Amino acid sequence: MSTTATTDTLANARIAVLGYGSQGRAHALNLRDSGLDVVVGLRPNGPTWHKAVADGLRVVEPAEAVRGADLVAVLTPDMVQPALYKEAIAPNLKAGAALLFAHGFNVHFKQIEPRPDIDVVLVAPKGPGALVRSEYERGRGVPCVYAVQQDVSGQAEEKAKAYAAGIGGARALLIATDFKEETETDLFGEQAVLCGGASELVIKGFETLVEAGYQPEIAYYEVLHELKLIVDLFYEGGITRMLEFVSETAQYGDYVSGPRVVDAGTKARMKDVLKDIQDGTFARNWIAEYQAGLPNYKKLKQADLEHPIEQVGKTLRARMPWLQASAPKPAAEPLKKTA
Ligand code: NAD
Ligand code: MG
Repeated sequence: MSTTATTDTLANARIAVLGYGSQGRAHALNLRDSGLDVVVGLRPNGPTWHKAVADGLRVVEPAEAVRGADLVAVLTPDMVQPALYKEAIAPNLKAGAALLFAHGFNVHFKQIEPRPDIDVVLVAPKGPGALVRSEYERGRGVPCVYAVQQDVSGQAEEKAKAYAAGIGGARALLIATDFKEETETDLFGEQAVLCGGASELVIKGFETLVEAGYQPEIAYYEVLHELKLIVDLFYEGGITRMLEFVSETAQYGDYVSGPRVVDAGTKARMKDVLKDIQDGTFARNWIAEYQAGLPNYKKLKQADLEHPIEQVGKTLRARMPWLQASAPKPAAEPLKKTA
């Protein structure tokens, strides 16, 4: 772990940022404000071209951004990266330059097999782009993991750390990892706990209450809306903080009922999910699904969107105007203990 990295290694480098979405925008602006030479590579008339221009950045097509770049950050959606690599990056990147990813998926699962004459590194902030930008603007940063897959210049690690410094991560914390660990843990977290696990837990809780005859509106508040209070406490101070804030009755219920719901069987199935990630089954299925035009993805998404919890949720959220903010916001200020 390190917090002492500086941008020195990239002081005279041209950095091309391909993609200007959640991560791309934050990285490009932070690198520029750190005094580095940044060019953004986007499809002409793509949805974010005008945004990057309006932010005062130089924007050109991806192939042109890559030509002359010393470091290329690939920040487009993961599934379009292989074609982008083949068409715009591989033919144009100069030998000895660095290719940087914010997620190891394509390299780890060999959807991109980088040229042997370039450095290949990873810098992944542990937060969404909006937070990477807002923390930087406050003079702070979001912790990053970094990794080196290929080092031909002898400076690959220094380049990764300098990039992490440029986006503000080194102000907080840099953790060394490798492409395999970053990719597999990232996929597991989002599948088993964050997106997949949490949404299924909420839906099954909602269905249990509604099937038992309770009002859907009440069920919505109890299993979805109030989850935010608990997650905020986890985020700020772990399970300790949650236990400090909830009542003794809630704690006792947690201790005796939590392990009945999420039990050794759940953990065994988590291990199955992890095994599918590790042996490439998940990646193979996902790539095939994407290439087939997302038929199952669309069906499953539609089912989630049509679930009764979404119907009732829409009505209830319309009566809570403080939820209507248009852009995703970074985490709220830490709660103050009032009791
Ligand atoms: P995004 O979907 O928010 O943005 C994608 C950008 O790429 C947009 O500017 C889009 O216009 C552009 N784009 C799409 N197709 C393109 C093409 N063919 N050529 C050029 N530009 C194209 O993406 P994101 O969520 O910022 O993800 C970028 C990378 O960062 C991914 O590897 C992702 O896994 C990783 N990552 C994301 C987060 C996050 O919080 N979103 C966190 C850590 C890592
Ligand atoms: Mg789900």
